[in-house]
Amino acid sequence: MCNCPKVTFYEVEFKTVGMKVVANHKNCGDFLNDDQFSAFEKELTKYWGFEEKKE
Ligand SMILES: [Zn+2]
Repeated sequence: MCNCPKVTFYEVEFKTVGMKVVANHKNCGDFLNDDQFSAFEKELTKYWGFEEKKE
């Protein structure tokens, strides 16, 4: 598991492992842990402009 303090959008690539797709940190070559993955998902959502807006 990756334990880097900060993982940015540009450092993540997706790999297929068995039946599922996992996020892999290019810098260290390890998979993101759950906390990092949820942080990354938020960053990705922002990047794509799908930021959640509650009206
Ligand atoms: Zn890492």
